[in-house]
Amino acid sequence: MNMSTGAGLAERAARVAAVAEAHADDVDAKGRFPKEAVDAMRAERLLSIQISPGLGGEGASISDIAELCSLIGQACAASAMVFAMHQIKASSLVSHGEDADWHRAFMRRISDEQLLLASATTEGGIGGNLRNSICAIAVEGDRCRLEKDATVISYGAYADAILITSRSHPDAASTDQVMTVFTRDQYTLERTHVWDTLGMRGTCSDGYLFKGEAPATQILPKPFAEIAAQSMLATSHLLWSAVWYGIAVNAVARAQAFVRAAARRSPGQTPPGALRLAEASSLLQMLKSNVVEGLREFEAAKADPDRLSSMGFAVAMNNLKIGSSETILTIINHAMLICGIMGYKNGTPFSLGRHLRDAHSAQLMISNDRILGNTSNLLLVHKQDTSLVG
Ligand SMILES: Cc1cc2nc3c(=O)[nH]c(=O)nc-3n(C[C@H](O)[C@H](O)[C@H](O)COP(=O)(O)OP(=O)(O)OC[C@H]3O[C@@H](n4cnc5c(N)ncnc54)[C@H](O)[C@@H]3O)c2cc1C
Repeated sequence: MNMSTGAGLAERAARVAAVAEAHADDVDAKGRFPKEAVDAMRAERLLSIQISPGLGGEGASISDIAELCSLIGQACAASAMVFAMHQIKASSLVSHGEDADWHRAFMRRISDEQLLLASATTEGGIGGNLRNSICAIAVEGDRCRLEKDATVISYGAYADAILITSRSHPDAASTDQVMTVFTRDQYTLERTHVWDTLGMRGTCSDGYLFKGEAPATQILPKPFAEIAAQSMLATSHLLWSAVWYGIAVNAVARAQAFVRAAARRSPGQTPPGALRLAEASSLLQMLKSNVVEGLREFEAAKADPDRLSSMGFAVAMNNLKIGSSETILTIINHAMLICGIMGYKNGTPFSLGRHLRDAHSAQLMISNDRILGNTSNLLLVHKQDTSLVG
C-alpha cells in the first residue's frame, strides 16, 4: 500500500468495516441496501479517493483501493461489492474522462458531494456479454437519449448516477459501443426484476427499464472497446477478487478462532480441524498471491499501452478472475468443515452461511464459462508468460 495515503485510508476503511459488520446479517436477511456502510463511506470521503487531487480526490492507486475492498469485504461482502463497483465506474472516468470538460466537472462533483456511481452493462437478450449491446443511444443536436432493458443494476435505486453502455448510434454494429454518464435527475427506472437471490443480497441488483435523456457531452469521449480493454475489465477482475479475498479471509479467521477455542478446551491435544486449517491457510496465501500479482501486472501495464492491450495481459486478468472465484469456494468449504454445525448454523460467531452464499456469486459475475471461452481463443495464438521474474 502507498505509504503516504495507505495508513490513513486503512484506518478510515476500518471504521467503515465496523459499521458494515454491525449491519451485515440484517442487510443479508432483509436483502436491503447497506445504507449505514455507504453513509460511512461518504463520511470518510472514500467515494472520491481514486480521483486526482486536482479534482478534489486523493489519487489512490488500484492496490490501495483493493486493500479497502478486502477490509470491508471481511465485514460485509455486499457493502464491499457496492464500494468496488463504484470504484470500477470511477476508474473509467479517471482513465478516460480527464480530458473532457463535462467529465472533469463531474469528477469534482463526485468529490464534493460523494456521489455513488452504478453500472448498467448487462442487457436483456445479451446477458453478461458486455462487449455487445442491443440498445443504441440517439444523439439529436446537443442532446442524447437512451432506453435500455438493463436486467441487473446493482443499487440502481440508490445511485446518484449510472454509467451505461449502448451502441454508439442506431445504425451501429453491436460491438460499436459507447458509455454514457446519466445523473439521477436525467433518468427514470421502471423495475422489471426483483433481486431476491442466494447471496450478495444487499447489492439490491434489481432489473430496470432505463430511460434517460442528457446533454450529449456526457457520452465518454473514447469508444467503450478501449475503456473495457484499458481499464474496466482489469479493474473489475482486480477489485471483485479483492472483495472475494476479503470474504475468504474472514471465513478462515472464523475457522481459526474455532480451532483455537477447541485447543483451549483440550490442552495438549491438537484439535481435529487444525490440519484442515493449515490447508486453508495455504490456499488463502495462493489466493492472495493471485490478487497481488494481478495488481502488480496492472500497475506495470498502465505505464505501457502496448502491454495493456496485449493478449498476455488479457489472459492474466482473466486467469485472476477464474482463480479467485473458484478458490474462495474451496477455502470457505474448508472453513465450514472445520467449524461443523457451528459454521452451518446462523447466528454463531463461526457462522459461514452468508460467506458461502455471497461467494457463489463470484463464478457468475460475468460467467466463468464465458471468460474461459475468451481465454481459450487467446491461447490458440498466445504463449503464456511463465517467467518468475517478469
Ligand atoms: C452480485 C452481482 C452484481 C451484479 N451487478 C451488476 C451491475 O451492477 N450491472 C450490470 O450491468 N450487471 C451486473 N451483474 C451482472 C453480471 O455482471 C453478469 O453480466 C450477469 O450475471 C450474467 O448473467 P447471466 O448469467 O444470466 O448471463 P450470461 O452471461 O448470458 O450467461 C448465462 C449462462 O450461459 C452460459 N454462457 C453464455 N455465454 C457463454 C459463452 N460465450 N461461453 C460459455 N458459456 C456461456 C454460461 O454457463 C452462463 O452461466 C451483477 C451480477 C452479480 C452476481
